[in-house]
Amino acid sequence: MNELDKLYRSIIMDHYKNPQNKGLKEDEHYGHVHAKNATCGDDVTVQAIVENGIIKDINFDGKGCSISMSSASIMTETLVGRTVLEAKTIIENFYQIIEGNNYDDSLDYGDAEVYAGVNEFPARVKCAGLPWHAMDELINGENNGK
Ligand code: ZN
Repeated sequence: MNELDKLYRSIIMDHYKNPQNKGLKEDEHYGHVHAKNATCGDDVTVQAIVENGIIKDINFDGKGCSISMSSASIMTETLVGRTVLEAKTIIENFYQIIEGNNYDDSLDYGDAEVYAGVNEFPARVKCAGLPWHAMDELINGENNGK
């Protein structure tokens, strides 16, 4: 394993052991989306609140493998405070990152680029993408609804 892989793995394990923004808030103003990855058993609920086109807060809860749970934690940190449009652009590029495709590396992905090597493990691509797909669906619903 090279140094970069080691660094990426330690960031992933850090988020898995100490997830950020884990636990849903009891607040009916939050939108939420539940997503499952049957092949791995990952089960995640993402909740977020959008005000004036800005994502004010994101939380998640669920259970699953280290990839899906760390990815949920990283997703909440990466996308909170962004406009819906920025978040959509980052999500679209994140899908390219995990598929091993070219992506716009001028954007700020926080820790999300640690999944750049996940395409070598096709089953894990779904795990990494799951919380991002849930967030994608959630903010698309926000836009359509208002
Ligand atoms: Zn998984």
